[in-house]
Amino acid sequence: MITITTKQEMQQLAKQHKTDGNSIGFVPTMGYLHVGHLKLVKEAKKNNDIIIMSIFVNPLQFGPGEDYKAYPRDPERDKQLAEEAGVDILFMPSPGNMYQNEKSIRMTVLRRTDTLCGVNRPGHFDGVVTVLSKLFNIIMPDRAYFGLKDAQQFAVVSGLVEDLDFPLELIPVETVREASGLAVSSRNVYLNEKERIQASALYKSLQKAKELINSGIQDIEAIICEVKDYMKANMEGDIDYVELLSFPELEQITVLKGKVIIAVAVKFSKARLIDNIIIDI
Ligand code: AMP
Repeated sequence: MITITTKQEMQQLAKQHKTDGNSIGFVPTMGYLHVGHLKLVKEAKKNNDIIIMSIFVNPLQFGPGEDYKAYPRDPERDKQLAEEAGVDILFMPSPGNMYQNEKSIRMTVLRRTDTLCGVNRPGHFDGVVTVLSKLFNIIMPDRAYFGLKDAQQFAVVSGLVEDLDFPLELIPVETVREASGLAVSSRNVYLNEKERIQASALYKSLQKAKELINSGIQDIEAIICEVKDYMKANMEGDIDYVELLSFPELEQITVLKGKVIIAVAVKFSKARLIDNIIIDI
């Protein structure tokens, strides 16, 4: 594995691989790698000649009161894990290199952001699509791999790729979970012991919703209430939202039909966790 730290070098190398006829699978991350990230690499290895992973904590996608500075980082461990997983090129630019010049363009996401995390994180997805547009142009992947744990991100990025005609395929990857059902996340390190146990209530409440839907319940409000009640009874975190929406459009629905997402966000003392399930009805 080689590690590259500037976008200029990275783009040069990606161009060379394209000229040589190698397909490129791309896994964008913010590092502090865990088994979820490694699953994306595993999927990428199935269909691509070269695997490129980026590790970049993107300042643009963090709001003023958010955890940009405190976001967990461990580059040396990340390098080791990426190499063991079979990453060929690790791209770790600095913010100064990525955002070298004063910006002339501002990107604004118009759809799929007026709900879920978009509501309490204004500008977050604008920062996500900006950095991904840059990364797609620097790395020129044939396929880019995204976890469905961040389902809204996947929905927004699908809009980005479609609108701007990026010549790549987006590949969604199922959420990797701990045995308790808790979705693996870099932010789980912020949980204390008690919260970590309680946090499994997020997934369990989603499973509850799935059972209700499978049993033929059609009342969306009732399903949302059940999810909230389950979480309130089993954890002390503050519920930020529980939503049942169409996927990937993320629109309110009145009838349970087609692909729907049930998504939850909960604030614990130091961590805000999200989780979701997508069901095809
Ligand atoms: P992050 O480093 O948190 O920005 O995540 C980088 C990528 O890994 C995103 O596409 C995430 O959706 C994905 N990811 C994060 N956690 C998981 C997980 N538990 N299972 C699968 N993918 C994940």
